[in-house]
Amino acid sequence: MKRRDVLAGFAAGVGFTLGNGYLWQLAENTYNREPLKVQLDADEPIEDLFLDEEIIASFEEGIYAPKSDPVVLGEKLQSAIDAVVNEVSDPEPGTLKVLSSADDLLDRVRYFEREFEDDLYLPESERPLFHSVFERLRQTEKTVGHGNFNLLSFDELFLYARNYGNVGQFSRAELDLVDKLFFTDARDYGFFGQKVTTELTAKINPNDTYKVPYSGHFLLKGGSLDHYRQLESDIGDSLILTSGVRGNVKQMHLFMAKCLESNYNLSMASRSLAPPGYSYHGIGDFDVGRTGLGYANFTEEFAHTDEFKRMQDLGYIRIRYTEDNRFGVRFEPWHIKVV
Ligand SMILES: [Zn+2]
Repeated sequence: MKRRDVLAGFAAGVGFTLGNGYLWQLAENTYNREPLKVQLDADEPIEDLFLDEEIIASFEEGIYAPKSDPVVLGEKLQSAIDAVVNEVSDPEPGTLKVLSSADDLLDRVRYFEREFEDDLYLPESERPLFHSVFERLRQTEKTVGHGNFNLLSFDELFLYARNYGNVGQFSRAELDLVDKLFFTDARDYGFFGQKVTTELTAKINPNDTYKVPYSGHFLLKGGSLDHYRQLESDIGDSLILTSGVRGNVKQMHLFMAKCLESNYNLSMASRSLAPPGYSYHGIGDFDVGRTGLGYANFTEEFAHTDEFKRMQDLGYIRIRYTEDNRFGVRFEPWHIKVV
């Protein structure tokens, strides 16, 4: 299938195997009386939150609420996008240049910030909704805290949406867009990695994670944490955790920010960041950096640090996205493959 056809499919709302209200159904059906794990302050323990009847009723009411107007972001949008994108990427995007029908996947890996002729774009008709979903996710992150947002599930997101005015209820159309973004086959974008989290509402159990002090990030106990501990002791204090385990909500927010930064180019976004569901951060991979290097930790510059070289000498480097990877993703020397 040619990329142009996919674009037409996106615009027409076809080509999504599990679209058409899947999330909407889920939001209606999966709400239950199980306690939610809540941690409002990063330094507080995670607690169970039991919901009373009134909250449940108001939540259900919210889910059935009529379509709300998209949030108008205006000039706040750019700084919001920057704040999210800068977390995991190069702050200086390269010059956009259209390459003429370059079919070589390696060209895309190498020139990941360039535009290719057959890149897939978010249709204009979807963009206002895209902005309003992005804003609701941003407000949720502000509400739950940067660290906790990494672990948030979609079920918990809905609860915050209903109970915090700054987040606001998701409209049916917004939920459908989230649904589409999650269930689009990423090969349509030109991303050839594996979908490792297939359930949109997958949960990361906070009890299975460990919050790494001063990092604002969590690691899965077991393989990920053990691997990080070993790295810490072998490389020293100058090695830091820059991103740990991330749930679908967090990955969705990062991916949407990348899309906005890429001028709605979904393919370009997917060359820098795995689409939601496709990130190995969901199941244990993590990113490391060097103290003081800042955003450059998410550039090739990290591959020139002593920390990286020592990791290499000690045989640690099992990089997920190598320089010549066939996933259609840029070289990521900072991303540690665990799983
Ligand atoms: Zn990573």
